[in-house]
Amino acid sequence: MRIDLHCHSTASDGTDTPAELVRNAARAGLDVVALTDHDTTRGHAEASAALPEGLTLVPGAELSCRTDGVSMHLLAYLFDPEEPALLAERELVRDDRVPRAQAMIGELNTLGVPVTWEQVERIAAGGSVGRPHIASALVELGVVPTVSDAFTPEWLADGGRAYVPKHETDPFEAIRLVKDAGGVTVFAHPAAVKRGRTVPETTIAKLAEAGLDGIEVDHMDHDPATRTRLRDLAGDLGLLVTGSSDYHGSRKTVALGANTTDPEVYGEIIRRATGAFPVPGTGGI
Ligand SMILES: [Zn+2]
Ligand SMILES: [Zn+2]
Repeated sequence: MRIDLHCHSTASDGTDTPAELVRNAARAGLDVVALTDHDTTRGHAEASAALPEGLTLVPGAELSCRTDGVSMHLLAYLFDPEEPALLAERELVRDDRVPRAQAMIGELNTLGVPVTWEQVERIAAGGSVGRPHIASALVELGVVPTVSDAFTPEWLADGGRAYVPKHETDPFEAIRLVKDAGGVTVFAHPAAVKRGRTVPETTIAKLAEAGLDGIEVDHMDHDPATRTRLRDLAGDLGLLVTGSSDYHGSRKTVALGANTTDPEVYGEIIRRATGAFPVPGTGGI
């Protein structure tokens, strides 16, 4: 059983539509795929409707959080998407995306880069605009060779020259909101150092106390030594260990199923969740 619990579609900054994503997941030999777009559940309906037989969809989202000045991502699974408090928080984060992207474009213009809102909006193609879209614009303009090269202090990395912070949820509040909506939380890529500062292990311990369910250990941004350290930490704190691709379509090179989650851990996530059910594929449209 192959389980990938972290994927993005055009509902945020992936390049596959939700329907294409689930078809590609089936083609990649996955049995379970989670759709975890940034701060939105907008892609769930389309993904469910297109779900091929034999593939199960786990509805989720990746929530933008910040604690002690450090940005972090919290994967949330199987929460009630209509629960008002969590929905309001997602909207608050999302509504901030456009002014924030425009502010970063302004910073880039100041730095002499002729990127425009129209260009970034075209690249986002209706998805909720994020830094990867601006990064793609920098590639288009020949400013950097790849999207990853835009996520550096010189450009768009946290604290970088053109970086503008966004509204992010306190993760302790996010864990509470997701729990209240019947969902399960997993700290995404907790030690992905190249994305910027990471939260210390003492904070992960506090998050575990506050009800965090798991940490994403097997992720492309973690080297083998980091994975070993995180696995030990999860053992110490009684946290579930997940593995996922963090697939973004063609925007990043990682393939669906590049990392996977143990079926027993997946079973435990389903057992803990009360807000929504995994969606079994029925053949799609
Ligand atoms: Zn993330
Ligand atoms: Zn992600």
